[in-house]
Amino acid sequence: MRPPETVSRFAPSPTGYLHLGHVRSAWEGWRAAREVGGRFLLRIEDIDRGRCRAEFDAAIREDLLWLGLVWDGEVRRQSEHFADYQEALARLEAQGLLYPCFCTRKEIQAEIARAGGAPQGEDGPVYPGTCKQLTLDQRRYRIAAGADYALRLDVSAALARTGMLDWFEDGRRIAADPAALGDVVLARKDVPTSYHLAVTVDDALQGVTLVTRGIDLFAATHIHRVLQALLHLPTPVYRHHPLLTDASGRRLAKRDRALTIRAMREAGMTPGEILERAQSSGR
Ligand code: GLU
Repeated sequence: MRPPETVSRFAPSPTGYLHLGHVRSAWEGWRAAREVGGRFLLRIEDIDRGRCRAEFDAAIREDLLWLGLVWDGEVRRQSEHFADYQEALARLEAQGLLYPCFCTRKEIQAEIARAGGAPQGEDGPVYPGTCKQLTLDQRRYRIAAGADYALRLDVSAALARTGMLDWFEDGRRIAADPAALGDVVLARKDVPTSYHLAVTVDDALQGVTLVTRGIDLFAATHIHRVLQALLHLPTPVYRHHPLLTDASGRRLAKRDRALTIRAMREAGMTPGEILERAQSSGR
């Protein structure tokens, strides 16, 4: 039997220009696919309509082509596929694994301060579960009154359903420990999905078999693995690469304009030099 084709992807958010850190992720995926005659896909993660801009989408494509990191087939733009995420959300809802969360950021911070702190998750402290305690009547009342709410995954209920999970990374099995991120948001107050849900659904719909991304998203993979199990989606192989650092070992800031591909190109660097630099620094 032939092994399945390698399908990798690069999935930037068009909230700014492509920078060196992005190039590392894109290059890892591109090279892995090209080495084995597989496919390399481009997905634009633009669910956050407030922060994403068409000009950055265009600039990302232009920079990738200039670098020679050419993708295969059509580009998938997440903002055109909200129906796919809605469908996945409905399946999780039907399993009783979601609950509405009415908390504002401020309320969450206040609750954490009252509790004397909370473990750190990926985007800050883990959600203390305030809205999980609400009764069905309280939820209905607040929704009927027009309160805004997000939908969170009840991680402990999800784990009770899936049991222990793992994924394959660098020839090793990694045990999933999603509780570390807490009850993550799967549909935001302002957007009918979230990064975690959209990325999991899309990787499956696009037939992605290899995910290459920065180690800063390692924690997220634990949640994605649980979502795959709940939604009966296949699990890709993951490769989390080190984040780029400067000479003193400090993580490169995304906001540093000097690290955008545009700036480096204007400064006279060639695609080869930029690719070399993207691969050489990291921890
Ligand atoms: N859109 C995410 C970002 O730009 C990357 C998502 C992923 O590779 O899974 O950070």
